[in-house]
Amino acid sequence: MFAATLLTLFPEMFPGPLGLSLAGDALARGLWSCETRQIREHGLGRHRAVDDTPAGGGPGMVMRADVLAAALDAAAPADDPRPRLIMSPRGRPFTQGQAREWAAGPGLVILCPRFEGVDERVIEGRGLIEVSIGDYVLSGGETAALVILDACVRLIPGVMGKIESGDSESFESGLLEYPQYTRPREWEGRTIPETLLSGDHAKIARWRREQAEAITRERRPDLLD
Ligand code: SAH
Repeated sequence: MFAATLLTLFPEMFPGPLGLSLAGDALARGLWSCETRQIREHGLGRHRAVDDTPAGGGPGMVMRADVLAAALDAAAPADDPRPRLIMSPRGRPFTQGQAREWAAGPGLVILCPRFEGVDERVIEGRGLIEVSIGDYVLSGGETAALVILDACVRLIPGVMGKIESGDSESFESGLLEYPQYTRPREWEGRTIPETLLSGDHAKIARWRREQAEAITRERRPDLLD
């Protein structure tokens, strides 16, 4: 079973949208689990502080290495085989290939920071893998973790009805997906491409391949390199 453990100041954010639909059904069926750990339980002093001012000055607050390490150690002992991630805009870009690899594994431990960031020493000291979901800045790691879990969970065997529905999708073949159509045959004067109505499966497959290549060339030539 794929076991997710989230370290966060906002445990109420989980499973959030992943409690519904495909991921939610899979959660209810026990195909994956979603455990949250409140970082503040390891906070210091009467106010259970988890952050402090940045060394060297500057705006915002930095999450303390000692507090985060205590939270991590309590959530996942050293022999826990799951990759330990930390959400970060400067991390390695998350990809479909990475989702596939993690979905086939034992699960993930994900640290979801807030504020300006975290003390660098806990990243080194606990061997955390920094992961980014894209070149923009979010207000916290939780929504990034939800994105990563969504992408992984739908790939867990048994979660999607049809195994094939994972394979022809955008990125799996290195191409973006071809255009899709359904009934009605004509809508606001727009028709479905004749080929798709021909019943000729070889011809349809060729058309889809050509469309996928053309769309990828036009929108994301970087994927073809
Ligand atoms: N000062 C930081 C941004 C902090 S945003 C910087 O300039 O890099 C607060 C938190 O949101 C981050 O610590 C990270 O956990 C999360 N976050 C923001 N953008 C993200 C992204 N693109 N991918 C993953 N996590 C992100």
